[in-house]
Amino acid sequence: MAQETPKSPPLGDKTLNPGDEAAPGTPGAAEDLCPECSGSGKLNDGPCPNCGGTGKVVQGIGGA
Ligand SMILES: [Zn+2]
Repeated sequence: MAQETPKSPPLGDKTLNPGDEAAPGTPGAAEDLCPECSGSGKLNDGPCPNCGGTGKVVQGIGGA
């Protein structure tokens, strides 16, 4: 029986937040302050959904 490959990538040990562009520890990627919450990790009286409440996002550099 043929089975279609699911589009969502399997989650490994690292869980990426929506604001993350790369997994932590990825060469060429760097942590930066979350632009949505300005590094506070909070947004609208709740944890920032962009960075998962960490206040930081991992962005790829030298690419794009
Ligand atoms: Zn944030």
